[in-house]
Amino acid sequence: MKKILITEFMDANSVNDLKNEFNVYYDSGLYRNFNKILEIVDQYEALIVRNKTFVNKDLILKAARLKIIGRLGVGLDNIDTKFCEKNNIIVQPAIGMNATSVAEYVIACSLSLIKNLTQLNQATLQGEWPRTTIKSRELKGKVIGLLGFGTIGKEVNLLAQALGMHVVVYDPFIDKSNEREFNISLIDKEELFNKSDIISIHVPLSSKTKNLINRQSFLKMKKKPLIINTSRGSIVDEEGLLQAYKNNLISGFALDVYKEEPVQKAFYSQIENRMNCILTPHIAGVTNESNKKVSNYIVEKISYFLRK
Ligand code: NAD
Repeated sequence: MKKILITEFMDANSVNDLKNEFNVYYDSGLYRNFNKILEIVDQYEALIVRNKTFVNKDLILKAARLKIIGRLGVGLDNIDTKFCEKNNIIVQPAIGMNATSVAEYVIACSLSLIKNLTQLNQATLQGEWPRTTIKSRELKGKVIGLLGFGTIGKEVNLLAQALGMHVVVYDPFIDKSNEREFNISLIDKEELFNKSDIISIHVPLSSKTKNLINRQSFLKMKKKPLIINTSRGSIVDEEGLLQAYKNNLISGFALDVYKEEPVQKAFYSQIENRMNCILTPHIAGVTNESNKKVSNYIVEKISYFLRK
């Protein structure tokens, strides 16, 4: 019987489906014990991970039988994909399966931040009644700038346009013909910084996208935009972002991902009560629905491959 190792949380029904057909070792917290993974990984034909298991050269060199890695999500920055390819190991992400979850999160944060809901909530809970001092705005008619127009960027575009927003996009790998099909304007990064009321990031982390939004970028943001990062922490300079907020260059931010995860105290201790911001623990892509879709997709792909 073929063997599968699962090192992070997966939908229970999907794990059972795999157990019906394969020999499965499932430990949702195993990613914390990298040495144990190194000890046992040589027994398995398939490995299933989320984004916390570091599938690096050391692990791959130990994984003598490994043929396929299922990624319960899409970002592949925790996997040495080049070394996998060199060793004939297939890497299978769950393409598109959590896109709705992330896109809804982006819209939820856009609405909450533009209406200052977290600030209003905190003030009201403290006995204040700031009906005129904390101002709300509307999303309709505003410009959202999307950095990256792949699966998630496209889903955000649909929801944003349904709310009457204008969408501008920076993605050098997208053909001009997409402008008509998706009713967007493809522009360069500097122009996007200049024109956007909201900037949402949907690029993968790579050497090219690291620090894509840096201290210089905030100086070019003429409309004091809201910044939403659901992509990867290192794509935005976190300290620069806080400074930009404190210097009134941006009017709020939502972060779901961080340079280091869990987010470090050195960063979150600088957040003050009345700031217009939302911090969440890397959950934009995780809903009951997406967890099922992602897990089912990986079950299908891994089972099909191992049966062959
Ligand atoms: P995707 O591969 O479908 O799209 C990425 C897009 O980025 C592509 O269109 C590509 O052309 C573009 N791109 C690449 N390099 C670029 C650059 N230098 N400048 C501008 N554009 C560039 O990926 P996706 O499914 O849309 O996901 C995007 C990212 O979101 C993932 O890589 C992952 O890191 C992150 N993500 C986070 C969560 C979460 O829970 N927070 C969930 C899912 C995905």
